[in-house]
Amino acid sequence: MARPETGFDPIESLAAMEHEFGEHGGVNMSIEASTTFTVMEARTMPDIFQGRTGPDSGCYLYGRHFNPTVYVLGRELAAIECTESAYACASGMGAISATLVQLCSPGDHIICSDTVYGGTYALAKDFLPKKMGIEVSFVDISDEQAVQAAFTDRTRVLFTETLANPTLKVAPLDRLAALAHDRGAQLVVDNTFSPMLVTPALHGADVVVHSLTKYMNGASDIVAGAICGRTEFIQSLMDLHEGALMLLGATMDPKVAFNISLRLPHLGLRMREHSQRGLVFAQRLEELGYEVSYPGLKSHPGHDTLQRIGRAEYGAGGILALDMKTAARAAHLMEALQSRKFGYMAVSLGYFDTLMSASASSTSSEMGDEAKAQAGLSDGLVRLSLGYTGSVEQRWQQMQETLAEVEAALPLA
Ligand code: PLP
Repeated sequence: MARPETGFDPIESLAAMEHEFGEHGGVNMSIEASTTFTVMEARTMPDIFQGRTGPDSGCYLYGRHFNPTVYVLGRELAAIECTESAYACASGMGAISATLVQLCSPGDHIICSDTVYGGTYALAKDFLPKKMGIEVSFVDISDEQAVQAAFTDRTRVLFTETLANPTLKVAPLDRLAALAHDRGAQLVVDNTFSPMLVTPALHGADVVVHSLTKYMNGASDIVAGAICGRTEFIQSLMDLHEGALMLLGATMDPKVAFNISLRLPHLGLRMREHSQRGLVFAQRLEELGYEVSYPGLKSHPGHDTLQRIGRAEYGAGGILALDMKTAARAAHLMEALQSRKFGYMAVSLGYFDTLMSASASSTSSEMGDEAKAQAGLSDGLVRLSLGYTGSVEQRWQQMQETLAEVEAALPLA
């Protein structure tokens, strides 16, 4: 993986790309809305099927294989994540499952962070062992000794989220990469919560996956995913015999790729604003005596790690976990905030408005009680994905009024 020694900036990297103009000189690229592609000579077709030529030479095969518009988005994602290549796919889960299945065979072993998105947890806990014969161990990735002890001779992948959903545990990517590489395994990082903030490939990640459904897209209107890594790995995903994207078919539609591509130029601006709001709210909630998990706070156990691997100018992100201590207080808080138009009770994140959910009973409900306890995920935990609509003070006033209402109605004993 290319690792520039100094000053990599994802937005500069994106801007340095050759601009993709539309077919008639439009400032935006054209959408190649075709599922199949003509060749000029009959012999080109076997050349494509045998892998002797391909998209880099302008030769395309079929829409479930590479598509020119999706290919452009892939190049943009690679520029942002500082990887050799990238390709976009149908969803974040499509990206994660294709990556893990591509890297592992039956009998192989994965070490997975004990705090990951509920869908990823279910994939690792149930689907991969039961359907594919892949063994998975869950560990606290902030405990290096525990990670080291979890490796077996069959470990192929160490999987983590940069900032964990929903507890915001920070993964020490540089140390995890060293541990994985030492044992011949690959570090796969889900960077969904932290585009711009952290560039996992610069810290040794071999593959970086995203749910583009979240911040990358920013408008909660598209489900999509991405896989960023070495060219050889991205090509292997499209192999006609063993490619997990090609054969499991989690393809991205070119119209979706076009839409997401248009939103990437302002990703940096959006992330900065999300992060500024995240820090203000986390600091003020902490000052009021609430238990807040936000890696921008000095009190957060992963604060120093994020300082080490993060990009200071983009802050610590727009998501915070507020522990209201009981499910009833969490529910009251969310309902009252929604009625004040502070935000919406909804899963997902990275939207321009605030989204709130009680993770234990929603996006992490796939985890059993023991796994939730191990991950530090209480029934009262409210995940707030702070948006940037309205002014900070307007939003803070709504929050203060709501907290006063909750404390009056359901005081802690
Ligand atoms: N990774 C993380 C961290 C997530 O939060 C999610 C969804 O919430 C996913 C992956 C799955 O993404 P998608 O819904 O696009 O499949």
